[in-house]
Amino acid sequence: MTANILVVEDEPAIQELLAFNITQCGYHAIEALDADDAWTHINHALPDLILLDWMLPGSSGVELARRLRADHRTHNIPIIMLTARIDERDKILGLESGADDYITKPFSPRELMARIRAVLRRRAPQMSDEIVTAGGLELSPAMHRINADGAMIDLGPTEFRLLHFFMTHPERVYSRSQLLDQVWGDHVFVEERTVDVHIRRLRQALEPSNHDRLVQTVRGSGYRFSCN
Ligand code: CA
Repeated sequence: MTANILVVEDEPAIQELLAFNITQCGYHAIEALDADDAWTHINHALPDLILLDWMLPGSSGVELARRLRADHRTHNIPIIMLTARIDERDKILGLESGADDYITKPFSPRELMARIRAVLRRRAPQMSDEIVTAGGLELSPAMHRINADGAMIDLGPTEFRLLHFFMTHPERVYSRSQLLDQVWGDHVFVEERTVDVHIRRLRQALEPSNHDRLVQTVRGSGYRFSCN
């Protein structure tokens, strides 16, 4: 699953540099020049991470970060703040406004990409390309491959994303609507029973190796991936 990264930066040269590096890393870059532009993109579809410049024309990056954190729809989006400021108080203000991380200009693209990967891994492990193992299953996002005790399992793209999400969020119960948000993406109109259809297909694929028991129904609540 390719992570969408919204880059809010008013300087075209830096915007271009960031978009180039993000694309090189295999992510998708969405460009916004100011806070209003950023909201237009966010209202259309939630990004997986926001790179936010501190100094923007109109509403500042700090104000935008606060607004994102105050809104229930956007409060979970990871934010990395970009700034020319190096004052310790500014750093604290940036982090207090809700940023997950902070990087000072001029920055090395390699360092920035390492931070992006780290924040995504922490906040949205299903976006990472790292191999995940749980309950006797080994899932490789890069190879789009699942190994169940030595046997390869073939899954459709939705079942693959669903299993990836479950394996990176084990032992927690998710409602159908939460799974739709997390696996199908925000603002996609899908009926909740669609989740049941894909859960069924996922279980069928996992049944021959007896891993279907890992995908559990929690009556009245939703589903849980449990290795216990
Ligand atoms: Ca700026």
